[in-house]
Amino acid sequence: MNTLDQMLADAQANNRMLTIGQLTEIVKTVSPKEYNSIIIDNAVAVKRYNYCYMNVFTQKIEYKSESRTSVVEPPLEQQIVNLIRQSGGPFVREDETRLVAQMEKAPKFSSDRLFSSTRKKVSEMVNGGRDVNHGYLTLNTEGDKLAAKQPTFIVRSECSVNDCTECKGLGVVPRTNKDGVVFQIECPECKGVRRIGTVSYFTPSIVEKKFDMVRCQEGSIENLKSVIIDNHKGIDPAPVRMVTHFNGIDREDFDEPILPFVDAIRDKTGENAAVIDVYYRIIPCFTFQYRNVLTSEVRTGVLVDPFREPELVLTLESTSRKIFSGVKDGMKNINRFFGSLGKSSGYKEKEDVRRSARLLIAVAVADGKVREEEKQLLTLTIQKMNDLTSGEQRDLLALLGSPDSSFLTDDDFKFHSQTAAEETLARMHEVTEVDGEVSDSEREIIERLRLSL
Ligand SMILES: [Zn+2]
Repeated sequence: MNTLDQMLADAQANNRMLTIGQLTEIVKTVSPKEYNSIIIDNAVAVKRYNYCYMNVFTQKIEYKSESRTSVVEPPLEQQIVNLIRQSGGPFVREDETRLVAQMEKAPKFSSDRLFSSTRKKVSEMVNGGRDVNHGYLTLNTEGDKLAAKQPTFIVRSECSVNDCTECKGLGVVPRTNKDGVVFQIECPECKGVRRIGTVSYFTPSIVEKKFDMVRCQEGSIENLKSVIIDNHKGIDPAPVRMVTHFNGIDREDFDEPILPFVDAIRDKTGENAAVIDVYYRIIPCFTFQYRNVLTSEVRTGVLVDPFREPELVLTLESTSRKIFSGVKDGMKNINRFFGSLGKSSGYKEKEDVRRSARLLIAVAVADGKVREEEKQLLTLTIQKMNDLTSGEQRDLLALLGSPDSSFLTDDDFKFHSQTAAEETLARMHEVTEVDGEVSDSEREIIERLRLSL
């Protein structure tokens, strides 16, 4: 598949939506560690942003005119006359005539300033390329681009042959000696050659520019631009021709996905670009709300490019604080339980709190996967354990990423308090109920605690 097809196929494949459930699954797979430190809010809808990365290459033709007036011997004079008379376009490649080179070799006409009006006229016509129709120029190319080295073009309408302005074409000028006698000397300006020629020309120069752009129609997400440029522009971006204005070709054909950004591209390339090549990639980004389980802050997270190179970005500005709905009811019993345990914060009680938490986590991960609801329950619960340091809380939260319950030791089943053990057993049942079904491995842990009572 060529690059253009690839770009369009990517754009289409990317045009999918993502539910909060799918997003959560992807986040879990891509960044399991971060996933365990956040609770994704199911109640807030995912919002899609279509970021567009563009790498633009542009070539612009700049024209700068020059004129040369020289004394011309008959053969050179004839060449200029022929050039003026010949039929064809307004510009003639210098390399076909070598006229400019010959004019450079011929003696420069020192009263050159007399021809400043010609120079001004050519300058107005050519500089900036206002009146240069590129259909009349055959520029050098390299592949599908303009080559760095371009030929010089002679402007036929601004070439001329005239009598020497000093001697009026006579080849001699009068001088008077000290006795008042008038005599003739060879014209010092044209050296007696009598004729002067003017050749006007310009050499196009190619100005190239290459730049990156990131744009998003749906608005922008703070700090995301550098993430896009650093990680999501794709491998080896090969551009596709969108604009051609040289050698008589005028074609503008921007791909649909980047149409909204054409003005922005033109702001940077200038209006009269001869070539615009663009590589682009649409990078869908999905925002969601999450709560950091340790700091309690509610923030906006972004899942970047989920269909190709998913990346989780969590460092965004916080939004308004709020308690997630839905989790609250499920929390009631567990909260009350840990609340009562926490009241007397002796060493033994603290050990029992940690045992309870480890067992509840073990039940949650026992079937190999932690459901979002289970995780929300447990992370909020662990957060509520005021007796634990944040380091201890973090250690417990890390267990939520365990592949199974094998982290449990015999010690986890040896409660100091019979009441705490019985309460823990009841809460374990609740955690499995959130799940809907009780797996064998869950049942095994519950049975083991029950037998230890
Ligand atoms: Zn002269």
